[in-house]
Amino acid sequence: MRMLQAKGYTLSHDPEEICGEYVVVNTCGFIGDAKEESIELLLGVASLKEKGEVGHIAVMGCLSERYMKELTSEIPEVDFWYGKFDWRGFARMLPDRRKCIEPKPWERMLTGDKWNAYIKISEGCDRFCAFCAIPLITGRHKSRPIDEILEETRQLVGEGVREFNVIAQDLSSYGLDLYGYHALAELIDRMAGIEGVDWIRLHYAYPTDFPYDVLPVMARHRNVCKYIDIALQHVADPVLERMRRHFTGTQTRELVSRLRRVVPGIRIRTTMLVGFPGETDDDFQKLIDFVRETKFDRLGAFAYSEEEGTFAALHLKDDVPEVVKKQRLDTLMKLQEQIAFSLAEDQIGSQVKVIVDRIENGRVVGRTEFDSPEVDPEVFIYIPSGIKMPDPGEMVYAQVTATEGYDLIAELVDGERG
Ligand code: SF4
Repeated sequence: MRMLQAKGYTLSHDPEEICGEYVVVNTCGFIGDAKEESIELLLGVASLKEKGEVGHIAVMGCLSERYMKELTSEIPEVDFWYGKFDWRGFARMLPDRRKCIEPKPWERMLTGDKWNAYIKISEGCDRFCAFCAIPLITGRHKSRPIDEILEETRQLVGEGVREFNVIAQDLSSYGLDLYGYHALAELIDRMAGIEGVDWIRLHYAYPTDFPYDVLPVMARHRNVCKYIDIALQHVADPVLERMRRHFTGTQTRELVSRLRRVVPGIRIRTTMLVGFPGETDDDFQKLIDFVRETKFDRLGAFAYSEEEGTFAALHLKDDVPEVVKKQRLDTLMKLQEQIAFSLAEDQIGSQVKVIVDRIENGRVVGRTEFDSPEVDPEVFIYIPSGIKMPDPGEMVYAQVTATEGYDLIAELVDGERG
């Protein structure tokens, strides 16, 4: 988007109101639901083109990378296909509308809130978990240089971003391909030293070879959120082995207790996969027991679905009936709901620092350092009359007075804001 802007194009990013001379659709091809969503959107844009409401259509992203041949014949309305990696080709192909210099790789145009941004530190994955199509789409793990990420961070700070959600398919491997060592701790330490960076939150670590040296960095810097998103998938050894996770149930328990020991108060977000080929009632019960005793702060779960080309699709029989998968998913998520509700209640009476995301029905809606945008709970703050309403992007303090399921209800603590 920055490249097109530099060339003199006017851009808009609003999936609710698709229009324009060129429409660029970014697609996802990771799992069935994402593929369906992408195809539905593509067909919708194709029909807008037929009605003359949009000009040309360009498609990018994982789905086009994976199924370009099939899609080209099925959706002929699309003018340009770019796959996942050669997206710059589109911007380069369009004629310049003014004299310009191509932006640097770290120069971006933000499309979401102006105070938070995702910052991708590597692409691809070398793990090849049996159920996962990501390495087939994204290729080998490739880290971005530290200096480039720091430049991007500084540029975003200059544009008003204060919260940085660091993402990668495999955070744990960051640096290995580029520097020959785990460089996540060094990167986060240096990012935390940039003035204006208020929160850094880490997403998608892998348990094997977890870079433990990032934990002291998290404990030391106030602006590194005490939060880690680490997908554990399961705890029963036979399932972990068939998933090709190269990690055992015992190691999983040790990892969780070490995270909590080194960074007291850390909130752990994880993902579990139920109904994987060969998962028995006993395996599932082990998972339930583990989740009950561990009390993850946040947990998401999926029921297994076969993804073509993966090891599991090629070599394992999808033998857990769909109805059983669904029952297991419901059981697990009901348990997690109880855990999350009770953990939220434990916070009543505490004071939290909140970043304001929006004002809704006269109350402030925001998140704490322990809440990632979109996926985690929110805090609803009532502002007494006569007190100035904070602006989105501001940080305020609030006293938790009650809960609403996963979410917190709080009252503004008058005083320091930022
Ligand atoms: S580590 Fe994550 S992205 Fe990589 S193969 Fe496993 S599930 Fe997929």
